[in-house]
Amino acid sequence: MSNAKELREKLMMKERKGAATFSPETLKEADDFAAGYKTFLDNARTEREAVAYVKKLAEDNGFVPFEQDKQYNPGDRIYIINREKAIGLAVIGKNGTANGVRLAIAHIDSPRIDLKPNPLYQDGGLGLLKSHYYGGIKKYQWTTVPLALHGRVVKLDGTTVDIRLGENDDEECFIITDLLPHLDKEDKPVRKAIDPENMNILIGSYPFDDSDEKDLIALNIMKLLNDRYGITEDDFLSAELNFCPAYKTRDIGFDRSMIGGYGHDDKCCAYPSVMAAIDTKVPDCTCITYLTDKEETGSDGNTGMQSDFLRYFIYDLAKADGNEGYRVLSKSKCLSADVNAAFDPSYASAYEQKNCSYVNEGVVISKYTGHGGKYDTSDASAEFMGEIRAMLERDGVKWQIGELGKVDVGGGGTIAKYVANMNVDVVDLGVAVLNMHAPMEVISKPDLYMAYKAFYGLFN
Ligand code: MN
Ligand code: MN
Repeated sequence: MSNAKELREKLMMKERKGAATFSPETLKEADDFAAGYKTFLDNARTEREAVAYVKKLAEDNGFVPFEQDKQYNPGDRIYIINREKAIGLAVIGKNGTANGVRLAIAHIDSPRIDLKPNPLYQDGGLGLLKSHYYGGIKKYQWTTVPLALHGRVVKLDGTTVDIRLGENDDEECFIITDLLPHLDKEDKPVRKAIDPENMNILIGSYPFDDSDEKDLIALNIMKLLNDRYGITEDDFLSAELNFCPAYKTRDIGFDRSMIGGYGHDDKCCAYPSVMAAIDTKVPDCTCITYLTDKEETGSDGNTGMQSDFLRYFIYDLAKADGNEGYRVLSKSKCLSADVNAAFDPSYASAYEQKNCSYVNEGVVISKYTGHGGKYDTSDASAEFMGEIRAMLERDGVKWQIGELGKVDVGGGGTIAKYVANMNVDVVDLGVAVLNMHAPMEVISKPDLYMAYKAFYGLFN
């Protein structure tokens, strides 16, 4: 061996080798893990559905509802739910909260198409719903794809109706139309290609009868909705109705190495962090997986990460142990579990190739997110980076570093800064995603599995 070769191996970073560094056993484990994830993703389109799914999964694995002021013992498993849109799973540690808690926090909301409060109308012989998009989307991607309806309607008498329609092949689905290319010759920047006020959802075309009454198509649709769900047009005013892509989660590629699906951001971090909590028996420190809502719109609101819900839960756990809540937070450590943008060779110019993340290079650590001169982000310290790096190496978890894209090209944020504001050590760690925020996003199976191993390592 030449001196340079020897020295290079000792001193320089290893070259990226993609999936070649995973053993056949690891690839098999990753494929098995992906099977459970795909089922989760198909059943957890919205935050409400994700909470319901995780609650069931947790109960099946011995988690019981949290009770305030109850004394818990090492190995006890509890869950807590915030307004059916966020959920926390905790496994009580040998030392309880005395040395802080270990947190994995992911979000379970994903970009989608919401309805306006007063959505129903008809025009040009078509029944339509006015929409208001949720989260950061390239609007043109969301036209002409099959959409399914998810959500809840609260009626005047206080009863609720849950709707999930369009996911099964034998059910009707919905669509946002787009102008044919023949009549769309005007050059427009991508951001202006679709006017959000044109993102109306096509829901029918038959009139109720042939009378001279007005808006008979809208009336017919309301009759169908009333027959099926017992709702009236006024009930739209107290409803949360979300249209999500009706795509089934699928394997991608001849080698089936990747997964295509709606809502990888951030359910591909939520699911591994849930499984890590489920597989944790009696940790040293109490560990908590928390799945939050509203990340895609800035983490505001009482179900978002800026709410005090998780803080109060930790205070309650601390109190039950005879500890001060703020002291527990000050000793806590967190992996902010969120996705990063995987390098896409077709759009290479948006990335800085020495510092972006790649498919099959393992779980991505983002030291900071934000934009411009590191605005609006929590920049993890060298010390905490060192600690997490050592933990991943100890556990044989393949990982990589990832900046979102070139400096000043754009940017993005995560919940990490809100966790950091609670005086918790935190860094972003998650899965690299291709075409993030599109109706169908892509991740790799081994990267998903490495995320699970990272969260498990934090808890154990
Ligand atoms: Mn995200
Ligand atoms: Mn996102």
